[in-house]
Amino acid sequence: MGIVLIWSLVLILMRWISHKRRGAISYDSEDQTALYIRMLDVRVRSQVGFEPERRGSHPYLYVDFRTLHSRPEAARPVSARNVRRLLSFQRYLHSSRFFHGIPANNPLGYILDDDFTGQAKLMLQKVGNWNFDIFLFDRLTNGNSLVNLTFHLFNTYGLIELFQLDMVKLRRFLVMIQEDYHCQNPYHNAVHAADVTQAMYCYLQEPKLAETLTSCDLLLGLLAAATHDLDHPGVNQPFLIKTDHYLAALYKNSSVLENHHWKSAVGLLRESDLLSHLPTEDRLNMEERLGSLILATDISRQNDYLSEFRTHLDKGDLCLTNGGHRHFILQMALKCADICNPCRPWKLSKQWSEKVTEEFFHQGDIERKHNLEVTPLCDRQSNSVANIQIGFMAYVVEPLFVEWSRFSDTRLSQTMMSHLSLNKQGWNEGRDKQEASSSRASEEQRTPATKDSNSKVLPQGSKGS
Ligand SMILES: [Zn+2]
Repeated sequence: MGIVLIWSLVLILMRWISHKRRGAISYDSEDQTALYIRMLDVRVRSQVGFEPERRGSHPYLYVDFRTLHSRPEAARPVSARNVRRLLSFQRYLHSSRFFHGIPANNPLGYILDDDFTGQAKLMLQKVGNWNFDIFLFDRLTNGNSLVNLTFHLFNTYGLIELFQLDMVKLRRFLVMIQEDYHCQNPYHNAVHAADVTQAMYCYLQEPKLAETLTSCDLLLGLLAAATHDLDHPGVNQPFLIKTDHYLAALYKNSSVLENHHWKSAVGLLRESDLLSHLPTEDRLNMEERLGSLILATDISRQNDYLSEFRTHLDKGDLCLTNGGHRHFILQMALKCADICNPCRPWKLSKQWSEKVTEEFFHQGDIERKHNLEVTPLCDRQSNSVANIQIGFMAYVVEPLFVEWSRFSDTRLSQTMMSHLSLNKQGWNEGRDKQEASSSRASEEQRTPATKDSNSKVLPQGSKGS
């Protein structure tokens, strides 16, 4: 009983501190501040199990995004989340004491704790491989791939020492990020964020970038990758707009999700105090750059970025000693990392394709259920995984990676283009087989009625021959 009482007091204290810090966040516009605080309030309330108060102005639809993709067994109460955060925090203290004074020739020792298996350690040694299996790594780390991978990369680059980051705060920050991804989303969850972070690391290692990027670029590149879809609701921007969601109003129907991911990341950075020891001007500058990177992942603005990239490549005027140009390349790298699934080996790529389609179709099901116009890509009655992938590869992925390969003509780029081509072939063959089997099936349905009547009729085209 005594332990339960102490835990309760600790939880109440933590919630009070967290609430105080949230209250301290300030934003430029008063309206935005009010809306954002209201949004945070809704999130906090829904997390602690209250019915959200604001239901939007839409007369017939309210969707609680926290339960949108939930399955009964996946539902987790918020108190469990807070306890888990606290436990993670304490476990880290234990492991940091354990590893205190560990020799520098064992860099992995700083980040490993009792949860790691030998296989996860081995995987981290090959984190720069393009065929890195993030699904396996996530299983080996008990669903903590984002925390462990990002911590490892920060450590690998020496960012903890360079920026004098408090390791406990960093760990806590990463746990909060991971927890703020919705594990119920089939695709936009923490494993996708970990996958994008791993891809980003591969690009940061490419010679042109590795030779020129500063420590600040590396820090922001990894941070942006890890947070770029933070608190993603599992539905797209048009859905938020047509349901009059408050996020659409807050960001004036423009890059709604990306703005939310950015502001959520800034909220967690401030809540964790990770960068609070840095001068205010530097910190604000980093928050702005983080936003600029995350906003670049808005797929509806892809053509703007792509034409600017093409122009630079045609002119050959990209100079990576120039800070602005380096930032632009980081934006392009993050865009590539975000949509690189079709450039992974088939075994990984196929899993991602199925997950993203499941999320699309789920949105379509909700739209149909509530008599909303069903988004074309989300209609399971007129689409298939293969069709969606073939279009996505042809119109979105390939144009981007063709330009990236012009910029960074390396073995990695050749590997990615080769996988892209093979995967396209795989989906085309899959679609052909599916179409052939469905036409066979419809043929067989007609056969009993037509077989006898047509049995003595010559096949079409042979008449008169
Ligand atoms: Zn993403």
